[in-house]
Parts: sequence; structure tokens; C-alpha cells
Amino acid sequence: MAGSPPIALTGATVVVSLDPPEVASCDVVLAGGRVVALGAPPPGSVRRDCSGTLVMPGNVCAHHHLYSALARGMPYRLAPPGSFLEILQGVWWRLDRALDPESLRCSALVGGLEALAAGTTTVVDHHSSPRFVDGSLDVIADALEELGLRSVLCYEVSERDGPSTAALEENRRFLARTCAPSGRPPLLRGMVGAHASFTLSEETLLALAEMAAGFVTGVHIHVAEDELDERDCLERFGRRVVERLSAAGVLTDKALLAHCVHVDGGEVRLVEAASATVACNPRSNMNNGVGRSPFERLGGRVALGTDGIGGDMLAESQVGLFRARELDLGTPGSWALSRLAESARVAGDAFGEPLLGTLRPGAPADAVVLAYDPPTPFEPEGLAGHLAFGLTGAAVRDVFVGGEPVVEGGRSTRVDGREVAAAAARAAKALWEAVEQLPPHRFDPGSAWRGKDER
Ligand SMILES: [Zn+2]
Repeated sequence: MAGSPPIALTGATVVVSLDPPEVASCDVVLAGGRVVALGAPPPGSVRRDCSGTLVMPGNVCAHHHLYSALARGMPYRLAPPGSFLEILQGVWWRLDRALDPESLRCSALVGGLEALAAGTTTVVDHHSSPRFVDGSLDVIADALEELGLRSVLCYEVSERDGPSTAALEENRRFLARTCAPSGRPPLLRGMVGAHASFTLSEETLLALAEMAAGFVTGVHIHVAEDELDERDCLERFGRRVVERLSAAGVLTDKALLAHCVHVDGGEVRLVEAASATVACNPRSNMNNGVGRSPFERLGGRVALGTDGIGGDMLAESQVGLFRARELDLGTPGSWALSRLAESARVAGDAFGEPLLGTLRPGAPADAVVLAYDPPTPFEPEGLAGHLAFGLTGAAVRDVFVGGEPVVEGGRSTRVDGREVAAAAARAAKALWEAVEQLPPHRFDPGSAWRGKDER
């Protein structure tokens, strides 16, 4: 922090950059919220012994749903889902409607703590709580601020629960707050959130594009996660999802497209031409049985998210690499490094910090200390191998965000993890009971839009 003495992380092996891979043996000096030097600490520095550790840039989860954090272990008493739509109807569209301010606060605290503990210092979140819309993003922001986690938040606009007015307004209100000329919150930014083409009318999609342009940001939206998104779009508009987004002005270089599993060659070319970012979520796609994103054809701007399956980007990158190699043995290990670097670039764009995701002098001081004493030489050409086969979130010792130590010795410096867990357990019980009272969601694009002239 400004005014505080510099902090020197001494004696570590340092990953200065993921892509291109750059490794050094040097001290890292943090001051004023930034990396200020790689080398000898200035007099007056507070020294932290990091010998026998690895210091690397904090990771970024480019697509998360913190609101899902209390779903873990939730009883499921309906018939097993037979399709992606039935997963939404039976699980997520019941859970999000049951959220209230307390369960949402606990979700954000639990999800945020887990992210930090795994070495993830920024979460790009996509939020939905249709019965508690107004102010919901503030609840998440306050919880994450309490933890010291950096975030980019948005509210998921959708018409599956009726008119989209309140959800649009929540994005607008929050973006106005995070863009306030009188002082932007240092660790908080916004985007315009949208669920997916198949739950959005043309009027609302155009409103989303207009809002994003007005706030000089992008739309964060699920794209072709399941075939039903493409099918609905072809039936209603005679075009594919990315073509529809492009025509509506959503497909910009600031757009964040989650999944893109079922896009075809023409859509891939549109995504690339627009320089939009795709956030792939390999573990979620496997878990939902929706297929695999053709990320090898999507160009360089492919980031990684968890889609709500925790906040561990080391684990996500490893599974993503193994899955890529299962289908194409030629996938280089550097694929995972590039994806993590792209995820950081998404956050860097939102914060106007092109060095975010590196430990170069001038970068925001988002850094992770792992108790990882490499048993083999640790050199730039081997970094991908250490990431794929050695690094684990369980080894995270200390985490710095904006230069502040927010995790020390594996524990939050800001909150009592046991108290958070106890409050979350109480909130989860109440939330699960509320979910039990709700029948499966009835929205089905096949019938919902019938009779409405969308063309
Ligand atoms: Zn998602």
C-alpha cells in the first residue's frame, strides 16, 4: 500500500511471465500495490523468506459463478437430468431463484476464499439471483472486498423469468458505480452480463450491446454451450448464435464468450475477426456432457474459466491440457500457459493493466507463493511441464493482491475461515430447503418463444 514499506519476497524461484515463459532466481519487491523491482530489495524493505518456494503471478478465472458455491452436496431428488436443458431447469434455475442476500453473501465468501487459497487473485464472475436482483452485485462486491480478491462482476440478463428490466438496470447501476470518476474501487470492475441467446429477445440483446458500448466494456455471455442454443437461434432467426451476436453489435473485442462448444467454422471466423475472447471451461463441459470447445481453431484469445467448479485455475488448466491431448497428442504443454496468460489478459483489459498476470516491474502486485521446491531443474522451457505435472493449489502458502498479503500460511488474513464455513453451512441448509420448495423451471425455448415475432 502507498506509504507502507516495500515488501521483499526473497530467495524464491520466480515465474516472471507465463507467456512467453520467463523464470528467474531473484527477489521480488512489492510497493505501492505494484511489483517495483526484480532484484536486491531497497533499504527499509520488509523481507519475507521465500526460499524453497515458487513465486508466480496470481491466476485469473475468466468465467465463474460464485452464486453456485453452496450447491456442493445439495440433495437432488428429481429424476436424473437427460439433457443440458434439464440440468438448468432442475438444478441451476432452481438454485438461483432461491438465493437471498445472506445465502449470496456466504456463496461469495466461500467461493472467493477457495479461489484465493488456490492462488487465483481475480475472478471474472457471472451472477444470477432472479428474486434478488437489485443490489445483488454489491453483496458480492462487498464480500470479495472483505477478502481482498480482485473481481470483474456482471448480472446475467435473461428473459427466462420474465422481463429483463431489473437485470439490465442492475448492470447499469453497478457499471456506473465502478466507473465513477470520483474514484474507482481499486479491485472492482464491471461488465454487461447476459445469459445466452436462447433466453434473450432481440430487443434485450440490442439493449445489452448498447449498454456495453456506452460503458466501453463488453458483454459476458454463454455461447453455444449446448446444441440447443444454436438450434433455437436457427429456428427463431435463421442464423447461428455468433452471427446473431455479431448482427446485434455484441461481438466486439471486449466481448467475453463462455464455452463456444458448438460453434461452426463460420462462427469461428467471426469470433477471430472481432478479436472477441472465448472463455473455455473444460471441466464443466465434461461434467455436463455438452461436448468440447474447438479451442485449437478459435485463435489466440482463448481464456479459461471454471464455470463455478471452484476457483482453482491450476487444476482447470491441467484438465484442459489433458483433454486437448486426448484428442490431439500434438498439443504443446505451452497451451496451458498461454490460456492462463489469456485469462489474465481479460482481467488486465478490464482494469487497464496490461502487465496484470506477470511479475514484471510495474505490474499490479498480484502474486502467489507456492511451497514448491522443484525436484528437477526449473527453467523457462520446462515451466509448462511443472504446471501440468507438479503445481497444485494445495501448495499455495501466501497470496498478495494489489500488494497486500491476503493469504498467509494458507489462511486468509482478512476473515476467519472457520466462521465463514459455519455461516455458509447454516445458509446452505436454508438455501437447500428453499430449492426443495421450487419445481423444475418451466422455461423451454421451444415453447417459450413460439408465437412471438422475433425476426
Ligand atoms: Zn457459465
